[in-house]
Amino acid sequence: MSVPLYLHPMKDRNTIRFSDSDRGIRAATFFLRKGGLVAFPTETVYGLGADARNERAVADIYRAKGRPAHNPVIVHVTDSAAGTMLIDLPEAGMKAAKAFWPGPLTLVGPVRGDSGIAPICRAGAETLAVRVPEHRLAQTLLKAFAGPLAAPSANRSGQVSPTHADHVMEELNGRIDGVLDGGPCAVGLESTILGFDADGTARLLRPGGVSLEDLERTLGVVRSGIIIDDTAPSAPGQLSSHYAPGARVRLNADAPGLGEAWLGFGPDPDRISAISINLSPSGNLEEAGTHLFAALRQLDEWLNGSGVIAVAPIPQSGLGQAINDRLRRAAAPRT
Ligand code: AMP
Ligand code: MG
Repeated sequence: MSVPLYLHPMKDRNTIRFSDSDRGIRAATFFLRKGGLVAFPTETVYGLGADARNERAVADIYRAKGRPAHNPVIVHVTDSAAGTMLIDLPEAGMKAAKAFWPGPLTLVGPVRGDSGIAPICRAGAETLAVRVPEHRLAQTLLKAFAGPLAAPSANRSGQVSPTHADHVMEELNGRIDGVLDGGPCAVGLESTILGFDADGTARLLRPGGVSLEDLERTLGVVRSGIIIDDTAPSAPGQLSSHYAPGARVRLNADAPGLGEAWLGFGPDPDRISAISINLSPSGNLEEAGTHLFAALRQLDEWLNGSGVIAVAPIPQSGLGQAINDRLRRAAAPRT
């Protein structure tokens, strides 16, 4: 399949910041109903929402982001009942839905014939990715809209994901109708994506806000097989260069080199350079996840988008798996 990039310029839109209020929700819902684009907060990152039943509206998401046409989007619904009506899930999938929805887990399964979801959300696949977010405002918006919302992260394709409404504005001002401002996102890392093999066993397609350890406690076996391959991505967010700031990223550093910025984790000795952020001085991986993307953005801004961000080693346990995954992609050679 040949896959064009949606690169045509978009007509300017006057991007409105909707407040966390009844009025803000009503206005956001108005734009979504007429096929517009509205970014909204979830517990993971801000999503760029559109009516998932409206092919043209979802096509506009791809254009606004510059997202490659082969990269499908996640569809958000209010509860497990609505989610399991869109896709067929094996027993392990139903168990995962029960244990982790609402929350930062996305489940992928064969789309049901009567789902009503626009095929563009699947980008050519037979499977659809579905999530039930927990965030209060995401829930309020989904209920007011009373339908499924397609929502990938609200950033330009390949850039660092937004965890504040200001980040959404930096990325998409003028290209979308609005952003519902719910303050910073609590988890700060995208959802964990779980697919299922033909035998019904769960397979981790992207590490994220639910740790592998927590999934294994509930499901027993979870297979891992994250494929980093730009020609045939299994979860296309796996494109190897992603979450990329302008500066280069140097991983597992002992200390910053001369002129480098420093992204620390755990107690930092005094020798750190002037330009530095510590993700969690106490070494807490949840806290580090919350701050990761905002810290990358801030260091990049201080460095004017060039130079080097040196990053301290981060343990691979718990949310460390997702944090290290994002950092590896941020450090990957740019395509
Ligand atoms: P984001 O753009 O950050 O919201 O990422 C959405 C992620 O969901 C991407 O990595 C997609 O590859 C993944 N995804 C969406 N739909 C599917 C699907 N049907 N199968 C596998 N992964 C999917
Ligand atoms: Mg994304």
